[in-house]
Amino acid sequence: MLYVSTRGNAPPRRFTDILLEGLAPDGGLYVPEDYPKADLASLRGKSYSELAHAVLAQFMDDLPDLKRIVGSTYTKNIFGTDDITPLKTLEPGFHLLGLSNGPTLAFKDIAMQLLGNLFESILKKERTTLNILGATSGDTGSAAEHALRGKRGIQVFMLSPHGRMSPFQRAQMYALQDPNIHNLAVKGVFDDCQDLVKQVNADRAFKSKHRIGAVNSINWARVAAQVVYYFKGYFSATEEDDQEVAFAVPSGNFGNIYAGYVARAMGLPIRKLILASNENDVLDEFFSTGRYRVRKNVQETSSPSMDISKASNFERYVFDLVGRDGARVRDLYRRLDSRGEFDLPRPDGEFVSGRSTHADRLRTIKQVYDRFGVMIDPHTADGVKVGLEHRQPGVPLLCLETALPVKFSQTIREALGRDPERPKRLESLETLPQRFTVIERDPDAVRRYIEDHA
Ligand SMILES: *Cc1c(COP(=O)(O)O)cnc(C)c1O
Repeated sequence: MLYVSTRGNAPPRRFTDILLEGLAPDGGLYVPEDYPKADLASLRGKSYSELAHAVLAQFMDDLPDLKRIVGSTYTKNIFGTDDITPLKTLEPGFHLLGLSNGPTLAFKDIAMQLLGNLFESILKKERTTLNILGATSGDTGSAAEHALRGKRGIQVFMLSPHGRMSPFQRAQMYALQDPNIHNLAVKGVFDDCQDLVKQVNADRAFKSKHRIGAVNSINWARVAAQVVYYFKGYFSATEEDDQEVAFAVPSGNFGNIYAGYVARAMGLPIRKLILASNENDVLDEFFSTGRYRVRKNVQETSSPSMDISKASNFERYVFDLVGRDGARVRDLYRRLDSRGEFDLPRPDGEFVSGRSTHADRLRTIKQVYDRFGVMIDPHTADGVKVGLEHRQPGVPLLCLETALPVKFSQTIREALGRDPERPKRLESLETLPQRFTVIERDPDAVRRYIEDHA
């Protein structure tokens, strides 16, 4: 399998060559040269890790130890159940696909746990080391830290906004005692953290001297890992391989739902991919009008992991929309850089979309709790709200559960007047000792810290 850049000006590469990279050298994102086809009959009935191996082997065909890595990633020990992504049926034809049973209780664990093991394996083979630098407002950073803790050859430097995460999110990160995990609490907001990462990465000499890497959502391995649970969910919800289904996906950076699009391109019978935006409705606007317009300000919402001004994985889909014409993508993104928007014919295909607000979220959490006795988190609620709006008779609807409610207790209390359920193993999480370093909003402070600890 070769990977090409969405901007059409970079040489094709193998999977192991792009694993540790972010953007392609021409500024584009890597995508597979073409989407492999899946044989549904041979996949149905496989366990999660067998299925993951069968799907991922097509994308990661130059990794000899993939089977071992996948087998040690998708275990009951790490994900709580043998199913890894159990399907919960609320009523016939209406399901939740549970993606949040990993160590940090959000779907990002599914890809990140694999990424951690892939990194470790490749670094060992190349006898080299890597320093991961990232910024987080909550979910991504904790998923990355839990995936990379204790890994040989890897140090993690994670910037988070000092005093601005929920006590639970803070504890999920800061309570880790592994010496290779470095929590840097920046005196500033999340945007400041992101700017610092950009500034340090712009210092090419520093970046190559210290082998600075990233684990952001454009990493192809993360997308590929997410393709697997669309297959798993499909097989759990259907009995025949010609039954069409719909998936509803709460979306921010377009990583999760793009994986569904890839599954569909591989032949999974998906009638519709239902995209849910929150108040930051860049993507809903695109799918309803064809206009892609970057927001100047990100609104802080009660589904914070979808608070984005632009959707970083979206370019991969745009590449297909314009017939895989890299020059056209370059043009569009040049226009985006100068004018903040571009227009395409409104796509009339596998995607439909909708928008969900704070009030919708509260109402949906309450409705699902009252009717089915199931507590869902605010992001999942956005997906359920929009998913139900687009539900079609005879087409099973699978709503992706992207986090557990315990991560967002304030919103749950507002919706239900009670505290969310909490997994036993996390009962006293917030009382554990915490390890973090407060630093100034200054790239030199970040560089100095890395120099002293890498
Ligand atoms: C990251 C995240 C999302 C958004 O996923 P994208 O891949 O960015 O579209 C939705 N819900 C939760 C809980 C998340 O952590």
